[in-house]
Amino acid sequence: RAARVRVQHLLRRAGLLRPDARLHRRRRQGDPMFLEPYWMRHAEASAVVVSGWHRMSYRATDGLFQSVELKRCIRRLHRAVGNAVADDKQIVFATGSMQLINALVYALSPDSNSGSTANVVATTPYYPAYRTQIVLFDSREYKWAGNTSMWAKASGNSTTKEDVIEFVTSPNNPDALLHQPVVVGSSAILDHAYFWPHFTHIPAPSDADVMLFTTSKLSGHASSRFGWALIRDEKVAKRVNDYIMQNTMGVSRDTQLRMLAIFKTILANLHGKEDIFAFGHDVMRTKWRKLSAVVSRSRRISLQNIPPQYCTYFDKIRDPSPAYAWVKCEREEDSDCSDVLLKAKIITRSGVWNDASSRYTRISLIKSQDDFDLLLERITEFVDAELTAA
Ligand code: PMP
Repeated sequence: RAARVRVQHLLRRAGLLRPDARLHRRRRQGDPMFLEPYWMRHAEASAVVVSGWHRMSYRATDGLFQSVELKRCIRRLHRAVGNAVADDKQIVFATGSMQLINALVYALSPDSNSGSTANVVATTPYYPAYRTQIVLFDSREYKWAGNTSMWAKASGNSTTKEDVIEFVTSPNNPDALLHQPVVVGSSAILDHAYFWPHFTHIPAPSDADVMLFTTSKLSGHASSRFGWALIRDEKVAKRVNDYIMQNTMGVSRDTQLRMLAIFKTILANLHGKEDIFAFGHDVMRTKWRKLSAVVSRSRRISLQNIPPQYCTYFDKIRDPSPAYAWVKCEREEDSDCSDVLLKAKIITRSGVWNDASSRYTRISLIKSQDDFDLLLERITEFVDAELTAA
């Protein structure tokens, strides 16, 4: 312990232990800084030193650009957590799962010679990057086609659509609900960025054909820009690989090395005293409990309802611990909920971003404890003011 304290002291003096949380209090809404204290406790075990002559080649241990050892770790992690069936899938690394959004749509779209165009859809409220990327990269093979409801409506509740690529975020960003594809026959991309036990119960391992994960929300290392896809079909995986080859020639090997240290630390502590998911769940459920208690006194704003659920990872019924609060303004005149809260000095992201009504807005709960404490103070003042006026 003395050695650990000394290492931390030296790192802090060298400016290497300055908590990132202080650097950006206001903007990056989805920044997962709540895990910073966990990594401060594991500073040594997760540290990586890279000499100048290390890892200089384009090539990694698979002969291309992916570390074989890192792939092994990812499979072990999914097996141990029980959140995805990875053993029969191809793994493709990317620069954040952000890079995989367009890469997967490209890979699942019809061949450019076929003359048909895939329609890319998601269910409102959805993560806005699906729309913004597909609109930006607009191509002959695929186009953004909006909300799934339009496709499901075509023939009653569901319809068969082969040329539909559907993004399914489960649990969802922004409202934390678990989702399944709604357009029957579509190629579904299951974005499981938040499908880890600190954010949600794990009912069973996901076994979809195409699944998307990111370390940003698993370990909190958004800075490393590391994501991966699990893909059943070899041809689809090859097309994703081709895209990554053309686009970035693979993920930075520095990042892969850091990820190895991070994942190994996570694996070594699963189900022990220092389990990252137990830590993360505890932090997040405490935040949710405090926020819910304050908001339950209000008639002006409300939160999404998430019941406690049985989780296979913890083997018990667990309290809700969502990454985001999806706030609704209940009063007729509060039609721009984000603006209403901004006037109370609370920064949120309007539901308009998610193609939902401006009556909704998203509060990020994954930021640092400091940020949350300030948020709770301001929400409490907001609710108190409402009650005093009543
Ligand atoms: N998918 C979802 C649902 C997300 O919320 C995010 C990050 N906010 C991402 C993908 C992208 O994550 P990253 O690029 O950091 O891996």
